[in-house]
Amino acid sequence: MDVQRKLEILADAAKYDASCASSGTERRDSSDGKGMGSTAPGMGICHSYAPDGRCISLLKVLLTNACNYDCLYCVNRTSSNVPRARFTTDEVVKLTLDFYRRNYIEGLFLSSGIIRSADYTMEQVVSVARKLREQHHFRGYIHLKTIPEADDALITEAGKYADRLSINIEVPEEASLAKLAPEKDVRAIRRTMGRLRLKLDEAQADQKTATKAKPPRFAPAGQSTQMIVGADAANDKTILDTSANLYGSYKLKRVYYSAFSPIPDASRALPLSAPPLVREHRLYQADWLMRFYGFDADEIVDPTQGMLSLDMDPKLAWALRHRGRFPLDIASASREDLLRVPGFGTRAVDRIIASRRLTSIRVSDLARLHIPAKKALPFIVLSDHRPASHLLDDAKLAERFRPAAKQLGFGF
Ligand code: SF4
Repeated sequence: MDVQRKLEILADAAKYDASCASSGTERRDSSDGKGMGSTAPGMGICHSYAPDGRCISLLKVLLTNACNYDCLYCVNRTSSNVPRARFTTDEVVKLTLDFYRRNYIEGLFLSSGIIRSADYTMEQVVSVARKLREQHHFRGYIHLKTIPEADDALITEAGKYADRLSINIEVPEEASLAKLAPEKDVRAIRRTMGRLRLKLDEAQADQKTATKAKPPRFAPAGQSTQMIVGADAANDKTILDTSANLYGSYKLKRVYYSAFSPIPDASRALPLSAPPLVREHRLYQADWLMRFYGFDADEIVDPTQGMLSLDMDPKLAWALRHRGRFPLDIASASREDLLRVPGFGTRAVDRIIASRRLTSIRVSDLARLHIPAKKALPFIVLSDHRPASHLLDDAKLAERFRPAAKQLGFGF
C-alpha cells in the first residue's frame, strides 16, 4: 500500500480524536513534483493551541488503525470492517518533515491503535518522536497519545520528546467504560494519568531549582484527555463532575469533549444518533467557567435537570437561576462577582476594573469594553442605568434571551 493511501486511511481514522480539532484545510499545490504530488495535503491537518495560546496546525494521524481492542464506540475496533493500514516510523517522520518544510503544519499529533501490547505500541509511537527530535532536530510541536500501563521508561521518554501527552478517559463513568470498552480499565487509565502528573510536577520543580545544567524535559505543555459525549446515558452534571475531578487530581491542561458520532455496523448498546453538537459546545463553555470564572462543577448545571440548557449559555442560565444576586453594581463589585455577570468575559472584567478607578462607567461605555449590552444590562447597575425592579422578577426574562423560533418551511 502506498503512503498516500495509508495517509488517507490513518488521517481519517484519527479524526474522531477531539484533542485537536480536525479541519480540512485548502488543497495545496504541489506542482514542484516532489513526493506528494497527487495528495490533498490538507488531509489529516488539525488545529490545536500551543501553551502560549498560538493556534498551530498539526499533522494528525494514527500510526496504525489496527487494534486489539473492541471499544464499541470506535471505528477502529478490532471487529470493525474498515480498511487497515500501518505506517512505518520512517514514513511518519518523512511525512511530518515534508509537511513541515512546506509550511502545511507546525507539528505532529500521533496516536495509535493498540497492537501486540501497551509497551510495543508505546515504543512505536515514541520511536517516531525520538527520530524526529534526535536525528532530524525537529523543533515543531509534538503531541503523543500515551498508552495506559506502558512501561515507565517509555513514558519518561515520550515526555522527553513530546510537548504534550494525552490519555483518553473515554466516558465519564466506570460502569459505562466496562460496557462500551471491556478491555479498557479505568483504574489503569487513572494510574497512568497519575504517573504523568508526578513526572510533570517533578519536571516543574526541577526547572525552579535548576542552576546551570538544563533539567530533563517532560511534556512542557502538560497532559490532556478526551471524553465522548452521548455514547452513554451520563448527563452533563456527571460529565462536569468527572472533568472537575480530573483537573483537580491530575492537573490536566484540558479536557476535550467529543460528541459521539454513529459509526458503521454499530453495536445496539450505542445510541442510533449523535447528540446535538450544541451539547458539546455548552460543555466547553461550562468547562471554561470552571477553569477561568471560578464556578464549581456543582453549580453550573441546574440540579433539577442534570443537563445544561441547549438554548442559552451556562453562565446566563446560572444567572437566571440566581436572580437574587443581581443587579450588581459594577462600580464596587468584586472581580469574582463580576466574572459571574452574563456577557462579561475575563478581559472585559479586567477592563472594567481598570476603567472604574478613573471614571464611572456608563451604558455608552459597554461597547468600548466589549460587553454585549442586551445580555448584561438586566443584571448590572451603572452610573446611568438601573434595571427596572420588576425585570429580574419577570418570569419572561429568560424568553428575552432565547433564540427566536424559526418558521418551518414547506419545502418549496
Ligand atoms: S483502544 Fe479502543 S478506542 Fe483506541 S483505537 Fe482501539 S478500539 Fe479504538
